[in-house]
This record gives sequence, structure tokens and C-alpha cells, in this order.
Amino acid sequence: MTRRLEPGKLVLATHNAGKLAEMRDLIGPFGFEVTSAGELGLAEPPEHGTTFEENARTKAVAAMHATGLPALSDDSGICVDALDGQPGIHTADWAELPDGSRDFAMAMRNVEEKLAERGATTPDRRTARFVSVLCLAFPDGHVEYFRGEVEGTLVWPPRGKLGFGYDPVFRPDGYDVTFGEMTAEEKHGWKPGDDTALSHRARAFKAFAHDCLGVA
Ligand code: IMP
Repeated sequence: MTRRLEPGKLVLATHNAGKLAEMRDLIGPFGFEVTSAGELGLAEPPEHGTTFEENARTKAVAAMHATGLPALSDDSGICVDALDGQPGIHTADWAELPDGSRDFAMAMRNVEEKLAERGATTPDRRTARFVSVLCLAFPDGHVEYFRGEVEGTLVWPPRGKLGFGYDPVFRPDGYDVTFGEMTAEEKHGWKPGDDTALSHRARAFKAFAHDCLGVA
């Protein structure tokens, strides 16, 4: 049985601006007083886990310990079938430059080159899924996890300037446009009370809202 979280202060355990904007949107309706690890100047903990869950836990527990408040993290990535699930938990690392900054155009090109090397040129060979695992760490150390996934196809060249990260190359199943061509609301595909959610993060938040906040 999932432990309930009562409305109050909540730290969003992320330093990623794109994720933070989406997490703020998605938690918005539930009446929390939200701050973020980045805004509080918390250190970014190193992620040595081998699963999305382990890395999400590292981030949530670090922010919870630093603040004494409940903390909600997101560990996410894109898993490409023809690349045996890569980049997966290393999705952000594939964009990293030697100076520590990130170049997602380079990362998307890198994925594309690897697909080309494997001859994955037709849509059926270019399937992928985005995964988001949320971890909620309570101040006494108890943790809960919520996972969301969305299936899609990788397109080339990238399309759209909205969103962040790998959004311009990901076309979710059932849509003609990429996440990079969708507004945030279209990408979430979810409003409180609705039964649908589109993005991996919105699906994970839907599970969080249902199991932990008691939203139907
Ligand atoms: P991490 O969870 O901090 O390890 O980073 C996950 C990485 O996956 C991000 O830096 C993005 O590049 C990518 N990613 C996760 N979610 C999304 C999304 O919704 N759109 C595009 N890229 C994403």
C-alpha cells in the first residue's frame, strides 16, 4: 500500500530546467508549496545506479536529507530498441561535453549515427520508449516509486523547437508530430480528472497522483 503524502512543502529534486518546468506543471493542481533543488542551491549528487529507480532514489534522498522536506525526483531517459536499450540511464551523459555542458543536437546525431551503422532506417527498426521514474522520499527515509513509459519512433532530421532534450526526434505512437512540435500541454496530454496521459513523465505523475494523493 502506497503511503499518502499530505499537501505541504515539497522539493522537486532536479537541476534540469526542462524537467523542472514539466514537474511544476504536473504537480501544479495539487496545492503543494514547491521549491527545487536548483533554486535551493543544493549539490547535484553523483548518479552511480544501474537502474532508473536507483538514480531517482539517490536524487530524492539527497534533497530530502539536505532540507528535511519530502522530495520528489525524476530519473528518465530514452531506450532505443535497435541499440539494445541504449542510451537508457545514460541519456543525459550522451549529451555531455568535456566542459560539463550538454549538447542535445550532438546527442541526437550520435543516436542517429548508431542507428545508421546498424542499418535501422525504416520506422519499424527505429522504435524507442521514453521512461520516467519518479521517487518520492519522505523525511523519515521511506520511499515510493512511480514509473511512466511512452512508446514511439525516432525520426530524422529533428522536428520542432518546443520541449527539451531528445523531444525533436521522438514521435509518440498514434501522433504525426514529435514531442518537439507539441506544446507542454499536448505533450503531457493530461489534466487532473482526465483518464489519459501521454508523456512518460505525465504517466508517472498520474500514478503518483492516484496512488499517493488519492486522485481518482
Ligand atoms: P537524468 O534523469 O537527469 O539522468 O536525465 C535524463 C535525460 O533524458 C535528460 O537530460 C534528457 O536528455 C532526457 N529526457 C528525459 N525526459 C525527456 C523528455 O521528456 N524529453 C526529452 N528528453 C528527455
